[in-house]
Amino acid sequence: ATELAGVRVTVAGLGVSGVPAARALHALGAVVTVVNSGDGERERAEAEGLRELGVTVRLGDGDTLPEGTALVVTAPGWKPTSPLFAAAEAAGVEVWGDVELAWRLRDESAAPWLAVTGTNGKTTTVQMLASILKAAGLRTAAVGNIGVSVLDAVLGEEKYDVLAVELSSYQLHWAPSVRPHSAAVLNLAPDHLDWHGSMEAYAADKGRIYEGNQVACVYNTADPATEALVREADVEEGARAIGFTLGSPGPSQFGVVDGILLDRAFVEGRHKNAQELAEVSDVQPPAPHNIANALAAAALARAFGVEPAAVRDGLRAFRPDAHRIALVETVDEVAYVDDSKATNTHAAEASLAAYESIVWIAGGLAKGATFDELVIRSAPRLRGAVLMGADRALIREALARHAPEVPVTDLERTDTGAMAAAVEAARELSRPGDTVLLAPACASMDMFTNYGKRGEAFAEAVRALVPESAGHD
Ligand code: ADP
Repeated sequence: ATELAGVRVTVAGLGVSGVPAARALHALGAVVTVVNSGDGERERAEAEGLRELGVTVRLGDGDTLPEGTALVVTAPGWKPTSPLFAAAEAAGVEVWGDVELAWRLRDESAAPWLAVTGTNGKTTTVQMLASILKAAGLRTAAVGNIGVSVLDAVLGEEKYDVLAVELSSYQLHWAPSVRPHSAAVLNLAPDHLDWHGSMEAYAADKGRIYEGNQVACVYNTADPATEALVREADVEEGARAIGFTLGSPGPSQFGVVDGILLDRAFVEGRHKNAQELAEVSDVQPPAPHNIANALAAAALARAFGVEPAAVRDGLRAFRPDAHRIALVETVDEVAYVDDSKATNTHAAEASLAAYESIVWIAGGLAKGATFDELVIRSAPRLRGAVLMGADRALIREALARHAPEVPVTDLERTDTGAMAAAVEAARELSRPGDTVLLAPACASMDMFTNYGKRGEAFAEAVRALVPESAGHD
């Protein structure tokens, strides 16, 4: 493990990763200065806590590199174009993210990492993976861009056999020396391009996850860009490219035949050409994109030597997090499903593909996205659409261009009752057997604090539809 006692470290950012990083570095004996451009109330409170420990905090200037800095540890969200990094480069000072810091601090015998990235499905896949590893009796945790930080997992008291690590493209950008045991890139669609600068740069950062893989580089056969990243990666000798597909698996692939998840990559015994793992119905929800997540999780677990029965038990035990294709209630034979977490078009397309006849509630902040592709692919399944939020006109225009037959309710309101009005409008458009699906394809911050609050508002409005006689309160 790296020795940091006495080293002058500058921590960039006073947020969810910066504060724990500053504390950890201080505890390791580093001489820590935290810099942060914002100096609001929250920052001042955090700063006070750190100053009490003896950490220097500089608020209101995140651009200048403090004198004598020997290492910068940055929060993942800081843009690579920030002047602080230019100053670090000019001074020959390395910049690490919190994940890089965790990797450098772990000792040689520490738990190996099974890592997951992708534009969508990371959290779900990492949780499925952790569930499988637990079913196999291994000491593990789902960490990274998800609840527990990797740093806490590496430095904490708890002992692990293996970690299931979710890595965002930002984290990978700042983690050049991380070498997972095995890793998966689930999919690649344009997202966060303002931060990375281009699709190529975004893909290259995601591709870092395969660097130095020892056993398996797991890719999505339906997304050739993920396979290209495997080909470009510099891996350990013997590491294999393992594809996953929703169709019949070829050699060295995971796939599905007749509703059975199959492994054709890690098969033991001469006569078998495929190992049965689980049934599609073992996976919740059994939507196509989620079966893909399950196959990726299974591939990583099998690469780590987990038995087939544990894959099945782990998948069965897995329950998705809130606001990810969660059935809220069925009212008058219409299912109301909350996928508030579908904050970009790629995610929304996946959840729209999971249902037959849909009243779609969408809209919010588009983050520069276009909606034509999504509408073209999803239109045949739309009974109607209810649009809300700042950029709803973009979706309305795409529907008018490609699916003029789909009835649209355009909601201008943005007050606290707007979601209830949207649910009411969706109810009017729906018929028995339909699904009313909140899959906004947009961020929520124009109207809500976050996607969670948006999903809660939806669920609350749906529950209000249930007749009191049905016994709900
Ligand atoms: P992430 O951690 O990458 O944001 P999540 O697992 O939280 O991903 O899922 C976010 C949303 O993305 C889900 O609500 C769903 O709409 C969509 N999604 C999940 N898995 C996939 C996938 N494999 N492909 C496309 N969309 C997906």
